[in-house]
Amino acid sequence: MTEREVRVRFAPSPTGPLHIGGVRTALYNYLLARKLGGKMLLRIEDTDQNRFVPGAEEYILEALAWCGIVIDEGVGVGGPHAPYKQSERKPMYKQYADQLLADGHAYYAFDTPEELDAMRARLQAAKVPNPQYNSITRTQMRNSLTLPEDEVKGLLDSGMPYVIRLKVPRKEEVRFQDLIRGWVVVHSSAIDDKVLMKSDGMPTYHLANIVDDHLMEISHVIRGEEWLPSAPLHVLLYRYLGWEKTMPQFAHLPLLLKPDGTGKLSKRDGDRLGFPVFPLEWRGIDAETGEPTLSRGYREDGYLPEALVNFLAFLGWNPGSQQEIFSMDELIQAFSIERVSKSPAKFDQNKVKWFNEHYLRAKPNAELAPYLLKALEEQNILCSPARAEQIVSVMKERVSFPQDFWQEAQYFFQAPGSYDEAVVSKKWNPQVSAALAAYADALPGTSEMTAEDLKARFSQTMEAQGLKTGQVLQLLRVAVTGRAAGPDLFETLAILGPTEVAARLRVAITTLG
Ligand code: GLU
Repeated sequence: MTEREVRVRFAPSPTGPLHIGGVRTALYNYLLARKLGGKMLLRIEDTDQNRFVPGAEEYILEALAWCGIVIDEGVGVGGPHAPYKQSERKPMYKQYADQLLADGHAYYAFDTPEELDAMRARLQAAKVPNPQYNSITRTQMRNSLTLPEDEVKGLLDSGMPYVIRLKVPRKEEVRFQDLIRGWVVVHSSAIDDKVLMKSDGMPTYHLANIVDDHLMEISHVIRGEEWLPSAPLHVLLYRYLGWEKTMPQFAHLPLLLKPDGTGKLSKRDGDRLGFPVFPLEWRGIDAETGEPTLSRGYREDGYLPEALVNFLAFLGWNPGSQQEIFSMDELIQAFSIERVSKSPAKFDQNKVKWFNEHYLRAKPNAELAPYLLKALEEQNILCSPARAEQIVSVMKERVSFPQDFWQEAQYFFQAPGSYDEAVVSKKWNPQVSAALAAYADALPGTSEMTAEDLKARFSQTMEAQGLKTGQVLQLLRVAVTGRAAGPDLFETLAILGPTEVAARLRVAITTLG
């Protein structure tokens, strides 16, 4: 038997911005496809028109592209199974519902919303814990299993609205092997007769999903744990449609939990704790108030896509070694479904920041300088790219996000307006003041001097003043930058240049006495 081609799909519904849990699902699909030399598909599951949100589809495409998740086939790319958007595939599904009807695995149901409500109320009154339309209750309802054949025909001919439901067997064990969870066994009495086709002729998620996965020759379905309860129903559909032999392998990913592990990670947790749960910023409309809403995104908050991807890869998977830093290519090499955990993964905002710091520091200065230059431009401050590169090179060990460069590096462009109170009140004295004045006098009136020379000159001057450099170093920093801490001091002074350093020292001495 020839090995089956690996074909995986990410199949989001465009109901709003893509949650980072969805990004993780897309990532794991992508890693597996690349690892096994297969294809990654993107299908948009928009059969539920009531939940459609404008802009969501574009958002999904942009978010995946930003993360470096490349789609081989699907929405935005095309391919042999186009269209890949379910609403555009609407005419394809009916024949499969008809096949199920003809084979006795599905039936017409004519119940009105009132009749369905009455059924639920009846069952609730009888203390049935989870009232459902199923193998027991269907015998009491108005459907093609209970009504005489000619009446059914009459109703259909008269244009009476109907849905098509799956006829779930009453007593049967449905089992399948999940690649992450092992054998999953569910008794059919726990499965309800799900609607497959709605009264407007639109398939539901369940039918469309199975038909498309089959037609698109999907080999592995990798998706979130919230779909695990639907999987037995999907297995039944594959069986009844005669597709069991080529049924994809299932892998249900572990849940993403709040940082404290008390429940599923939601947007509200992000808002409360100050981190985004979406890859990109999202401008939406509040469903209740109709007011415009703004949700933060990793991209706009200054995270690098490499950092988010590396972080998400570890939320539910580990390489089995101590290595934590993985590029996309390294993830592809290392990834395997066997190492995906079935226990839920806790979100850790410090960890994603840690990854960001790592990737920021690994970036060449020439790629970081534009962040600083952009902020400077907004402030109308002139700076050459070469100087911006020098500044980011000394600052990058100290920042977590690109937008911090300006915040942290302001003193390279503006003399300090104040001096760190705590250090000044504790350590500033006339002897220090005199020593710093001597250093200012010892600096040449040129714009350039190396860090080593500035340091050597400082040591000589302090020695002549009878002071140890350690006694004055921090005050030198405070006098020149206003701050008690920062990057390498003499590198900082070298970037400022001896003339500027001397001028700032004189101002500090006058101000602080
Ligand atoms: N449309 C479903 C979703 O929004 C896809 C579930 C699946 O992958 O089967 O997550």
